Amino acid sequence: MTQTQPTTFPDSAARLGQAGAANYPGLDAWRSLPISQQPSWQDEGVYQASVKELSALPPLVFAGEVDVLRERLAQAAQGKAFLLQGGDCAETFDAATADRISARVRTILQMAVVLTYGASLPVIKMGRMAGQFAKPRSSNDETRDGVTLPAYRGDMVNGYDFTPESRGHDASRLVKAYHTSASTLNLIRAFTQGGFADLRLVHHWNKGFTQNPAHARYESLAAEIDRAIRFMEACGSDFEALKRTEFFASHEALLLDYERALTRIDSRTGNPYATSGHFLWIGERTRQLDSAHVDFLSRVRNPIGVKLGPTTTGDDALRLIDKLDPNREPGRLTFITRMGAENIRQKLPALVQKVTDSGAQVLWVTDPMHGNTVTSPNGYKTRRFDDVIDEVRGFFEVHQGLGTFPGGMHVEMTGDDVAECLGGADPVDEEAFLTRYESVCDPRLNHMQSLEMAFLVSGALSQASR
Ligand code: PEP
Ligand code: MN
Repeated sequence: MTQTQPTTFPDSAARLGQAGAANYPGLDAWRSLPISQQPSWQDEGVYQASVKELSALPPLVFAGEVDVLRERLAQAAQGKAFLLQGGDCAETFDAATADRISARVRTILQMAVVLTYGASLPVIKMGRMAGQFAKPRSSNDETRDGVTLPAYRGDMVNGYDFTPESRGHDASRLVKAYHTSASTLNLIRAFTQGGFADLRLVHHWNKGFTQNPAHARYESLAAEIDRAIRFMEACGSDFEALKRTEFFASHEALLLDYERALTRIDSRTGNPYATSGHFLWIGERTRQLDSAHVDFLSRVRNPIGVKLGPTTTGDDALRLIDKLDPNREPGRLTFITRMGAENIRQKLPALVQKVTDSGAQVLWVTDPMHGNTVTSPNGYKTRRFDDVIDEVRGFFEVHQGLGTFPGGMHVEMTGDDVAECLGGADPVDEEAFLTRYESVCDPRLNHMQSLEMAFLVSGALSQASR
């Protein structure tokens, strides 16, 4: 794991007033702990002004919504619901347009309906959206044609363009990330509360996407749902509950200056909440037990995720539980495993067994993307659809073998017709990368691959929930 030198100017940051949460004990303890993957801001004045501005801005999410999510996740941990978490590897400011956001939300709604219908289980819908703007990197630098510049770390830190100006770490981007998250969240709320997510529009969500096999399969499922709704309507049922849907926002809590500045004390309970998103997770590169990230997230009330890669030991998992979920509160802690298709069947059982034996109840979620990244012969970072599906299958098999519940799926996907992952029913090949590879970070499933995955998983899930 790379340790970048943090230059977060800790003393000056601690002096800045932080709306309500300024004096809450422990929220700044992370500043004296080892921290990795932080930017080296080029201008201290801009950094201070940005953190101060963020500290005074309204919260993006509300504590009550965060509590509802914790209850929903507790249901999933107990086998009574399933979490679908999806979105870009890295959101960008430029792609925060109505069309792109709408396509992504519609794709998640479609995947959720496929899973709900197939498994007769409530699906918790969560975007890797409205805040997924900072990326951990395995290397601090990037070299192209003999020129070396700082690596791209997400729009919240620097630009993707390969120039010294763009790659400098500019703290004013923290504020832009906040505002872009706010407008993204505003549109998501409008879509999901304002009629667009009404289940009676189940056909409508498919409109505008390219015709393909998964698209056609979805049409026939939508027709079945339509018929069922019309039947129930004819019987006099009232469908208020179908008109709106809950949709939660999540991102990796990587930049602790940003997260700290948006932490607020809930007036109802007096507890601190990270208000940058409903659900925050700690990445595979920043989950060291005594590190700043684990310490900071142990102190906020939000439901928390931790990514667990193939080197995770049972003891690591138990120590993370002790630190992040000392009260063993259902819904508080989610382990997102990303072992790789070739490892999952060997490595996951011991981990799940150890946690189960300890009496702790966490929510187990599969991330079948990050353990399966390869470079294509023509030089693109990609994933094979078959490997992704194989890891999901392995995840379900392991839980079935142990009698535990496979409670969710975390995917990098988009509603757009990109070519970034290889394969699928209407296969994407390497040639397509040349014209339709758009991701600035990891490769995403496109609309069709996302739907196809939902159909494949719904079969496994209906077995698991029986
Ligand atoms: C990610 O989710 O984009 C990511 C970097 O994952 P991980 O921390 O599991 O490598
Ligand atoms: Mn990623």
